[in-house]
Amino acid sequence: MADQFDVVVIGGGPGGYNAAIRAGQLGLKSACIDKRGTFGGTCLNIGCIPSKALLYTSELYEEAREKLPKLGVKASVELDLNGMMAHKTKVVGELTRGVEFLLKKNKSEAIVGEAKITAPGKVEVTLKDGNTRTLEARNIVIATGSDVAPLPGVTIDEERIVSSTGALALKTVPKRLLVVGAGYIGLELGSVWRRLGSEVTVVEFLDRITPGLDGEIGKQFQRILTKQGMKFHLSTKVTGVEKKRDALAVTIEPAAGGAAQTLETDIVLVAIGRVPFTNGLGLDKIGVALDKRGRVLTDSAFRTNMDGIWAIGDCREGAMLAHKAEDEAVACIENIAGRSGHVNYDAIPAVVYTHPEVASVGKTEDELKAAGVAYKTGKFPFTANPRAKTIAATEGFVKILADAATDRVLGVHIVGADAGNMIAEAALAMEFGASSEDIARTCHAHPTLSEAVKEAALAVDKRSLSM
Ligand SMILES: Cc1cc2nc3c(=O)[nH]c(=O)nc-3n(C[C@H](O)[C@H](O)[C@H](O)COP(=O)(O)OP(=O)(O)OC[C@H]3O[C@@H](n4cnc5c(N)ncnc54)[C@H](O)[C@@H]3O)c2cc1C
Repeated sequence: MADQFDVVVIGGGPGGYNAAIRAGQLGLKSACIDKRGTFGGTCLNIGCIPSKALLYTSELYEEAREKLPKLGVKASVELDLNGMMAHKTKVVGELTRGVEFLLKKNKSEAIVGEAKITAPGKVEVTLKDGNTRTLEARNIVIATGSDVAPLPGVTIDEERIVSSTGALALKTVPKRLLVVGAGYIGLELGSVWRRLGSEVTVVEFLDRITPGLDGEIGKQFQRILTKQGMKFHLSTKVTGVEKKRDALAVTIEPAAGGAAQTLETDIVLVAIGRVPFTNGLGLDKIGVALDKRGRVLTDSAFRTNMDGIWAIGDCREGAMLAHKAEDEAVACIENIAGRSGHVNYDAIPAVVYTHPEVASVGKTEDELKAAGVAYKTGKFPFTANPRAKTIAATEGFVKILADAATDRVLGVHIVGADAGNMIAEAALAMEFGASSEDIARTCHAHPTLSEAVKEAALAVDKRSLSM
């Protein structure tokens, strides 16, 4: 007899495990299946968490060498790459075990194995030992996430030509690293290895870095990264990588066509994006519809075209971000439980965890222009923020975009130290439908970096106090 569940979740990433937790909270009997062997998905195992561990430790290393002497602290530091990797591994282990604990606490059965939907309401799991187990459920949630987007003509070996997964586990610091793709993953991992001593070159097909972020912020960000030593080839494509004994020969061409040239490097990191992952689920056989980009098609309540089958996270449309997957998980399970779960896609923050950080929520200036929305802008630089001065982190600025007629905040964009934490205030303001005046009238502690957010809000009304 098959095991019976209210909800079976396929995938144990931020989408999947949070769905199982919410199901438990609402009294639904659930199972969460992941083939990886540890729970937490891409995010905890090979994504957000290991990358942030390396970003933190490599930043400390660089600061100790470059910044501390300028601030009156002399330190003699030495890189211990194995120690750095051990810290990363320890954090990943603690957090993935934490997910197993949370699943147990919420009475969700954690199953390690590869799942396939064989019919509506029926999931077959190939367990680690090769045995099969059949589960029956009134609801199946697909949360199978995403995978590295391949670069045509270039084979990833995770040794010399790596994806983000290999770049999180290099055994030595490469002398030269060539990053294909100037999105947040390439720039974050490029920053890690640059801080540890690599010469980093970034090749990007588009004419700008971090597409999707506000254009002005992107330009400033590129200037800062260039000053830090990263080299950029924009409007350029990589057409091939030849493995030589002592180096990799990377062929690049202008994106619009033209003469090719060759760059030599030691490691190539392919970071041109991620693609939805639904392989092996059997969706084509049972008739679950996908869109043109291979994402599971759902309505705004996360229902697929088949009764009782739902999808959330990276495998459906929208930003491929862990917190987006998590919010969809909660909303989807609430809908399954007959509640009214929903996600406000206008207030989902995005952060690049470099130094300085880049954080953004809501519309960019380019989007407002394209939509013909009349808006006001308020900007404030960290050079005029006292806390930024005290911590010697004055690069960057805050930009607030507000509706010209109603003053409602439409977008907030920050490049600066700790931008990732500061953006939470902006997301909350937007969730509450705040005006820039609401932010400007909110008392901000002094001296904090967040005072720059208040000053940018004041600047929308041209009454910044500190400029
Ligand atoms: C290097 C890197 C850094 C990142 N940094 C950030 C960041 O700082 N902030 C952020 O918000 N996002 C970040 N992301 C993106 C983030 O990891 C994803 O958006 C998030 O993990 C998506 O969650 P998910 O639950 O949809 O899918 P995933 O986390 O991908 O989980 C899906 C799981 O499903 C399992 N699975 C797939 N098919 C099956 C099957 N048939 N049977 C059983 N199990 C299956 C997989 O093994 C996987 O564990 C980063 C990604 C990378 C690669």
